[in-house]
Amino acid sequence: MALKTGKEYLKSIAELDLQAHIMGQKVGDLPRHGLVAPSQEAVAFTFDGAHDPEAGSMFRALSPLCNDEVNRFTHLHQSAEDLVKKVMMQRYCGTKTACCFQRCVGLDAANAIFSTTFECDAKHGTSYHQRFKDYWRWVQQGDLVVDGAMTDPKGDRGKRPQDQADPDLFLRVKERRDNGVVISGAKLHQTGMLNSHEILVMPTLTMRPGEEAWAICAAVPTNQPGVRYIYGRQASDTRKLETHRLDVGNPVYGGQEVMTVFEDVFVPYERVFMDGEVDFSGALVERFASYHRQSYGGCKVGVGDALIGATALIAQMNGVAGASHIRDKIVEMIHLNETIYSCGIACSALGERMPAGNFQVNLLLANVCKLNVTRFPYELARLATDIAGGLLGTMPSAADLNDPVAGPYIKKYLAAAPGVEVVDRVKVLRLIENLVAGAGAVGYLIESMHGAGPPTAQRIMIARQANLEGKMAQVKSLLDIA
Ligand code: SF4
Ligand code: FE
Repeated sequence: MALKTGKEYLKSIAELDLQAHIMGQKVGDLPRHGLVAPSQEAVAFTFDGAHDPEAGSMFRALSPLCNDEVNRFTHLHQSAEDLVKKVMMQRYCGTKTACCFQRCVGLDAANAIFSTTFECDAKHGTSYHQRFKDYWRWVQQGDLVVDGAMTDPKGDRGKRPQDQADPDLFLRVKERRDNGVVISGAKLHQTGMLNSHEILVMPTLTMRPGEEAWAICAAVPTNQPGVRYIYGRQASDTRKLETHRLDVGNPVYGGQEVMTVFEDVFVPYERVFMDGEVDFSGALVERFASYHRQSYGGCKVGVGDALIGATALIAQMNGVAGASHIRDKIVEMIHLNETIYSCGIACSALGERMPAGNFQVNLLLANVCKLNVTRFPYELARLATDIAGGLLGTMPSAADLNDPVAGPYIKKYLAAAPGVEVVDRVKVLRLIENLVAGAGAVGYLIESMHGAGPPTAQRIMIARQANLEGKMAQVKSLLDIA
């Protein structure tokens, strides 16, 4: 089976001819849109990676589902080693793109759905697992991008789905037909949605008896009628539309987040993988979240590599690389970044085989990983800002740098260490700016806080997984306390 190249992927996405609302306009021809193109380039990187002579083996895996080699971004993990390789691949992609490359959510959804459907079928006599296997084999063979869509709008957070003023605030089955269901609702913050061929919707939280309509997991093509897209804004995003690439910060790649509305979308039963089994909704949510919390132990570390590299470079360009306090701060950045990576690797290495046969991360360590991610990138950003200096927030524009009157002043007064071109200094500062306060901060900071669930969600999981009772019993036994 031929794995797609980045170019082939871009062609396949262009052929879907998706449309979106972007800054007040309904827009087609998305690949040519300045806000969209960098995000598609980032996804394309995950395809080219599989063809890279040096890194390719990290991106390739043998799938028992289709008995062939697949891109690891569609792989069902067969071992703890597979889980480790996933994190290493994500770090590699993050380091090279310095942004969110968007393709992990579908991978994480697939592994969670694969194991949950198996267990659901065993209890309820349903046939979701075989359906999902057939579907996912098709995804692997086509080397497709799948968006895992979990986050519902949730309306009044104090109310359950059926108590909301509008039942669509949680995506639901609105109508049932002989051959399928009609779904209605929305998914927010969808990473890479418009760069995907397919969507896997999942429930957003553990549903209870009486909430069967909201316990729905199903696959929808992104070009299905009734699915609408409203593009998310990122800080400083319109810089991507300017002629001067220098001010963008990341001149090649970028992330993408999309509000996705499902307006009475029909889904045939062969694409439905949960339909009212509320007792398995919690497992699906928990497993997807844990896989995605593991993912951050790779991708955020990769972006951290880019930030550390840029920070060390700017210190050099500013002529302060040798100062002991600068060296110490950079070591601190490395320590924080590698601590996240250690958690990503650890929760993978201690992964376990599920009854369905695929491997799941260690839930406790995956949650510890993500809880660190809610803090450490912010500290890395603080240290990078500290080292970069105030110019990070006050640099003149690229247009002024090129201006015949202003340009020479800028070059004269922004000169730093000998031999450093001012334009190179500006490039590095703009990349740091992109990651700590610009478009890249959506993925590196805000998403680090809220993606795969906010810190409270990880604390709940940590409390549940930590076996506190066992620890107390151990101490009692040690101290001979009855
Ligand atoms: Fe992948 Fe990270 Fe982007 Fe999530 S935030 S899709 S894990 S790169
Ligand atoms: Fe995410």
